[in-house]
Amino acid sequence: MRHLALTGGIGSGKSTVATFFAERGATIIDADAISRALMEPGQEVLDEVVDTFGEHLLDAAGRLDRAALANIVFNDNEARERLNGIVHPAVRSESARLREEALAADPDHAVIIQDIPLLVETGQADQFDGVIVVDTDHDTRLQRLVEARGMEVEDAQARISAQATDEQRRDVADWIIDNSGPLDSTEDQVAAVWTELTEDQ
Ligand code: ADP
Repeated sequence: MRHLALTGGIGSGKSTVATFFAERGATIIDADAISRALMEPGQEVLDEVVDTFGEHLLDAAGRLDRAALANIVFNDNEARERLNGIVHPAVRSESARLREEALAADPDHAVIIQDIPLLVETGQADQFDGVIVVDTDHDTRLQRLVEARGMEVEDAQARISAQATDEQRRDVADWIIDNSGPLDSTEDQVAAVWTELTEDQ
């Protein structure tokens, strides 16, 4: 079994790379995606959040109004801690469940890749068997965030600047996937890393 971390700055193409690994058989554990799924209607976590912060967080269809929740916790540390106290343990236990499921299915060869945008910022690199970094040059990231994701240039630039530098991410990398070029070049690099990860098991 191998337990790896996948990281990259915002707009680097981390989600795209995660999909290429998933297509080859990796189990991807994505805390952001898990926390979004736990906030869907019918989920206990959503019920608890609404019990704690109020019914006004739900729209007419019973879905979480994310902007309203963000407003509540943005400037209120105590509220943010209460929210994290509900969401984080649930995300951790769902992540553990996914890991156990992958291990049970293939105890010797499972490749589990944890998608952690802020791996470097939160100092978690040492907890994994290896780190895969998606590296994309600054201007290309900015352009993709603006053109493909519809962000404002200033917002995209501010988000890039708030994160660790490319150099800091490269420093913790065991594998670097350059996603500055076309997708088929990225997929070729993923295929090469996948071969390395699986050939000696
Ligand atoms: P991240 O998860 O790192 O924030 P995404 O995987 O969502 O980044 O990629 C950011 C945007 O750039 C997406 O719209 C994605 O489709 C696009 N994209 C990713 N890689 C490439 C590439 N090699 N060529 C062109 N567009 C890309």
